[in-house]
Amino acid sequence: MADTETSPPTNVLIVGVGGQGVIMVSKVLAALCQLHGLQVKQSEVHGMAKRGGSVFSHVRFGAQVWSPIIPHGETDILVALEWSEGLRWLDAMRRDSGTFIADTQQIVPPIAFRDRRPGARSGYAPQSPAAVLEMVGTGFALDATRVAAGLGNTRIANTVLLGALSTALPFPVEGWISVLRDFVPPHTVAVNLKAFQAGRDWVESGSRPAEEAARPAGARVAVAARGHRLEITEAWCKGCDICVKMCPERCLRLDERGLAELANPAACTGCRVCEWLCPDFAVRVLDGLGQPVA
Ligand code: SF4
Ligand code: SF4
Repeated sequence: MADTETSPPTNVLIVGVGGQGVIMVSKVLAALCQLHGLQVKQSEVHGMAKRGGSVFSHVRFGAQVWSPIIPHGETDILVALEWSEGLRWLDAMRRDSGTFIADTQQIVPPIAFRDRRPGARSGYAPQSPAAVLEMVGTGFALDATRVAAGLGNTRIANTVLLGALSTALPFPVEGWISVLRDFVPPHTVAVNLKAFQAGRDWVESGSRPAEEAARPAGARVAVAARGHRLEITEAWCKGCDICVKMCPERCLRLDERGLAELANPAACTGCRVCEWLCPDFAVRVLDGLGQPVA
């Protein structure tokens, strides 16, 4: 962080899609910088913020900041609320010293599945988190949306990422919490503070216990013929039928209770279309050892 009048500003770029809370993250950060007496400039583009469109926000802070726009390649911290949006902006980062913080949750547009023949590949970015983290100086890829779901509200995934971001900047945690309280609706303060702490814990522990603990008991796991497993968390399935309709192999159906089930394990290819498209994160494709497929 800049601490003299001649130091360059610190540049934080927050990206995602409409409805995820990109602007909330940038406003909390900007307010925190002001609280610490720093000059801060924030700009945002959300013309496509009709739900699902790309949204991004620049936050620059330091002793002196002249422009609200981060020069290309000078982003110190890139925070991505959606996985492919993060990949889209990788070139904006300082590759040697930049920090990449991203939700691995993928918001896959239905148009990515134009080819619905059996075995067809999706048009969504194929890079795995491990491959992307190899490309950046410091990187954190966490399933913030699933952590938020475990806390009862997927819409607070942005606060989980805010918690992760807080570990990368030298502001005391009390300041973050104070500003966060001011920016969220009063009835959501408690759950937002839990989400913020979960993001911090995730980075500081370097593991995923919170994520795994977040999933409720009672998930139904079916072993598919090709060795992988399909896990359906019944408590989260609302029977919307999206996975049933979009499975390229037509191997899902709703059971007598109206919940998704794998009706034809022999046909399941593990393509993850159901996992990506389920709006309630109720489906997960696991490998033969029961670990999430990267
Ligand atoms: S898409 Fe998700 S919520 Fe909808 S039926 Fe399938 S598992 Fe259930
Ligand atoms: S992973 Fe899901 S969408 Fe893909 S074939 Fe299996 S059940 Fe169908």
